[in-house]
Amino acid sequence: MSAVPEGPPGDPGPGLTGGVCPACGGPVDDVVARCPDCGCDLAGVPPRPPAFSRPAVVATVVAFLAVYAVIVAAVALVN
Ligand SMILES: [Zn+2]
Repeated sequence: MSAVPEGPPGDPGPGLTGGVCPACGGPVDDVVARCPDCGCDLAGVPPRPPAFSRPAVVATVVAFLAVYAVIVAAVALVN
């Protein structure tokens, strides 16, 4: 009666991300549920996309271009 439902060896559970810590980015083992570096609870934490994903970079560039266009337009109107 001590059987615990487990996946095949090497298959991380659904709550374990494995690989890198989502909080500090440090390497973590697949079998641990807590980051050894920062103590972040890895169970139940969904993997977040990297901060510099392509949509984020595109949105940032577009936002900077929009601000730049507004500044250029304001300078052009003043002069
Ligand atoms: Zn961590």
